[in-house]
Formats: sequence, structure tokens, C-alpha cells
Amino acid sequence: MAYFLDDYVFAAKYPFSSRAKEIMRSMSINADEEMANAGFSRLSSALNGEIRRKVFLHEDDAVREMVEYGAARMILSQMRNRFLTSKYAVAESKKTFAYLGDEAPENIISLAADVGISSFREDGARLTMDVADFLLYAPRDVHYKLISRGLDAGRVPISRHEQIRIISEAVKKYAERIPAMQAVPPAIKAAAEKMYALLPKIEPQKISFKEGENPPCIEAILDMMRKHENVAHTGRWLLAVYLINRGVGNEDMLKVFANAPDYNEKIALYQIEHARKRGYKMPNCSSVVGYGYCVADCRITNPINWRGKSRPPPPKAESKNDEKVKG
Ligand code: SF4
Repeated sequence: MAYFLDDYVFAAKYPFSSRAKEIMRSMSINADEEMANAGFSRLSSALNGEIRRKVFLHEDDAVREMVEYGAARMILSQMRNRFLTSKYAVAESKKTFAYLGDEAPENIISLAADVGISSFREDGARLTMDVADFLLYAPRDVHYKLISRGLDAGRVPISRHEQIRIISEAVKKYAERIPAMQAVPPAIKAAAEKMYALLPKIEPQKISFKEGENPPCIEAILDMMRKHENVAHTGRWLLAVYLINRGVGNEDMLKVFANAPDYNEKIALYQIEHARKRGYKMPNCSSVVGYGYCVADCRITNPINWRGKSRPPPPKAESKNDEKVKG
């Protein structure tokens, strides 16, 4: 099959797409040192949070980008490092978000299908998606709570911006899935070794809470942090406000937030200090339910009132949460 420059450019911008895979399959590429270095460079940028939109003027530039993407995934497959994989997935997601804003609607739909969302429908100016896909891929943020949307026959209305955000989230999940490799080329192994040396020596969760010291909702967010998962803005805000109200200092709080794959010390410190200045109080459990972070039924009114795990909470019952939201 013949490919045109437009196909190459599309494939370079979205190297996980089916079009990129077709193009790559039609070429023969050696996993040599040059390829491994390209992958190393992509991962280093992800590690440093550098997200750059590129312009591809020639097929060769586009092929180089696809090779770089493939090599980065091979290195990740060899390393099996959760922190780096999360950083990389966030970078791929942000790149996609940056490119998708200029994309034609038909390309957006085809790309969404490549990462598992085939339910977008446009009816005039109305854009909707299937509720199951929405629940799976919408960011965990209060803005995307289902309760604030008018469900119509199992379909959720969304804006164009939300569609792009949801696809970017699906790209992140897709990028996190790194298949294991049977035979790893020596150049990739060497690049993986070099990459290990660049990883920050993160001490997992230096702030030492004892088991059961925090309410289950906060433990759940801390657990995501420990696994270097990308906690949504509302979750980070809840955690920050909780820690501030527990009297935890900035330095210890930064150690917690340093586990986030998109951690930036300056921004994190600014947000913590901003929350301190505003004197935010920990929201009540009913609000935490509304934010989607309540995971148990502790029979207290506010997570800050948690007094240890002397009485393990019963698992959260769906109907009770519904009552809390209504109440
Ligand atoms: S009931 Fe309150 S403290 Fe318990 S998990 Fe839910 S929000 Fe947190």
C-alpha cells in the first residue's frame, strides 16, 4: 500500500495508531544503537516532563519519530519500571492532547477507536459517548462526575474539549500497557541500563504514616501515589488539604507528591502554599463522596475525624453513597 506524507505525519504524531503500525510493518528496522539512543532520548524527555509538539516536514522525520516511540517501549519492556512507565504514559498522553486540538473530526474518531473508544457519536452540534466508555476513560475529576450530566439512553453528552481530554486519558492507559519482549536486542539492554542511572532515587513514601492512621479515602489516594499513578487534580487537592489540616509540613508533603509521574517541585510547592494561605478545611465525607474518592462507610462526618483503625469500616455500599450525595 502506498502512503503519502499526510499518512506519515499522522503516524508520527500518533505512533500508537493503527496507521503508524501499518507503516512500521511495511518497513524493516534494526534495533541497533541508533534506534536505542532515540528511545533513550524520548524516555529522558518524559522523565524531565518535556513535552514538545514537533513539525514533520519530511517522511524521514516522521519515520524517526515512530522508531523513537518503538524503541522507548522496548526499553520500558526491558526495565519494567513503574515510575518511568507512568512518566512516559503521561508524556504520550499530553503530546496527544497537544496535537488533537488541530485534528479533523474524522481523524479524532479513528484515533479514539485505536485506543479503545468506538462510541463517540455526533448528531449536529451534539456530541455524545457511551456511558461505559465515559466511566472507563473520563478523568477522575469532579468536572466529569456522571451525576452532573444529563444521561440520555445510556449516552453522555460531552464537549469537543472533553472528547480530546478523554481520548488523551485513553492514550495514557494504552501507553501504560507495555508488552513483554522475548528476545531483547543488546542495544536496547544497554539503553535500559543507562536509563536506570537517570532515575531519581525516590524513597517510596518517606512520610511515615502508620497502618490505619489515615481514613480509607486518603489511604487510597496515598496508595495511588506510592504506585506512581497519575492522581487527578481533585484527588491531589483532597490529599493536600488533608495533610495540611493534619499539620504536615511542606517538606514532608513534597515527598508524597514527588511520587506523581508529572511532579514538578515548583508547581507542587506553589499549590501547597496556595492551599495553606486560603486556609482550606477538609471537606466533609458527603463532599468526598461527590468527588468520587470515598471508598468505605466509616460513619464519621469528616475524614479529619478519623481516629485510627480500631473499628474497620464496612465496605462502601453504593446505595448509601447515593443517599449521601442527595443529602
Ligand atoms: S466515609 Fe468519609 S472518611 Fe470514610 S472513606 Fe468515605 S470520605 Fe473517607
